[in-house]
Amino acid sequence: MRPTEDGYRHKGLRKKLVDIIAAKGITDENVLAAIGRVPRHFFLDSAFDELAYDDRAFPIGEGQTISQPYTVAYQSQLLALKPLMKVLEIGTGSAYQAVILAELGAKVFTIERQKALFDSNKQFALLRKYPAIKFFYGDGYQGLPTYGPFDRVIITAAAPDIPQKLLQQLRPGGMMVIPVGEGEVQQMRRLTKKEDGSYTEERFADFSFVPMLSGTNK
Ligand code: SAH
Repeated sequence: MRPTEDGYRHKGLRKKLVDIIAAKGITDENVLAAIGRVPRHFFLDSAFDELAYDDRAFPIGEGQTISQPYTVAYQSQLLALKPLMKVLEIGTGSAYQAVILAELGAKVFTIERQKALFDSNKQFALLRKYPAIKFFYGDGYQGLPTYGPFDRVIITAAAPDIPQKLLQQLRPGGMMVIPVGEGEVQQMRRLTKKEDGSYTEERFADFSFVPMLSGTNK
């Protein structure tokens, strides 16, 4: 069962979580404020009621996880969002990252390949507050060519290399934030598409994501 109550204790724990993430180096005030507003315990079973505010990833079923809040904040900060930007997210999972992006003013298009996780989000009452998020069931490697081009692309699973189709769906001047690597650890990268269609690449810290897989899972 999902919790539905956001009490003063949750709010207090959330404030502490924001302090922890800030101490780890997140400086974007908008990102910190968004983490402070969103009730992360709503995205987990009620068994995680208080644990939800630990800076840790947790299982959400189907062998998948809700990303660590620090990781969500890190990717969100690298995206350097402006309100009303069109963002493509690969790996909806719990929808926590998608909600943080919507809180930052983005129009979010998010794809999940696990049918059970996609279906579970249809029953998730909190998401009705976010008409700016559009949910898709499919293989993120294909992107959403008919909805693009996008200002930003964020991949929330470990990609063995840069998915070319997703780069193509990026607007000139747009950015992709993606953890790249085949082993246990991946390196966060940010690609910026130039007006002439070429890319610059920046490399950041190491993280550990579940793998980005091709095809869908019913
Ligand atoms: N953004 C999520 C993180 C979930 S973990 C959150 O905030 O909770 C990564 C998710 O990516 C998993 O749910 C996994 O099923 C999904 N995934 C992996 N490969 C994918 C692909 N090719 N297309 C769409 N989703 C994918």
